[in-house]
Amino acid sequence: MSKALVLLSGGQDSITALCLAVKSFDEVATISFRYGQQHVKETEYAVIAAAKLGIADSHVIDLSFLPSLVRSALVGTAGNDVSNSHPDHPTLPASFVPNRNALFLTLAHAYAQTIQAEVIGGGMNQTDYSGYPDCREPFLNLFLRALNIGSETEIRGFFPLLHYTKMQTWLMAEDLGKVEFVIENSMTCYYGVEKMNEWGYGCGECPACKLRANGWTEYLEVRNEPV
Ligand code: ZN
Repeated sequence: MSKALVLLSGGQDSITALCLAVKSFDEVATISFRYGQQHVKETEYAVIAAAKLGIADSHVIDLSFLPSLVRSALVGTAGNDVSNSHPDHPTLPASFVPNRNALFLTLAHAYAQTIQAEVIGGGMNQTDYSGYPDCREPFLNLFLRALNIGSETEIRGFFPLLHYTKMQTWLMAEDLGKVEFVIENSMTCYYGVEKMNEWGYGCGECPACKLRANGWTEYLEVRNEPV
């Protein structure tokens, strides 16, 4: 009996990773976080998607204190324009949230021990334009190793989209028969705009929407190429 705990933000990547987890493991639980995001729509999509996939154990954890500690445009403590650079990290976008994945993984790793999940992970992706350093492989592997050493556990990582482009993520959704599901049940937009586009909900203008829309266009081009 294999069990996975998926960190679920409600965006395209995490919902696609969840669909793969449901297919790959006997049992799947999800954990989502409210950390003072400007909009909570993303988390609402996460909860609904988990329910539609028949997941009984789907947690939403309240970390609403986080904006009192960190600066990020995502939580309104570094302006609201996500296309600016981060006030404390000039090479990173204003949407960077310091130690976000460290915090999420720490809590997920603790809960994984409670429910005896042998795998934790999600849709972390290092090919995003945003280039968050805590979404890259060296950090994820080393941090998981540190957590395992600290708890005498051997919980493995599940990061299937780490090196995927958005186009490849759409192809994975297609392989899983879940393109429509991802379109209808994920929210990637930084501003939580519920405007339906052919690639899903979003404002169409923010960096996250543009990335998703471009990936969708590339995906359609690849699909239409003669084999
Ligand atoms: Zn948007």
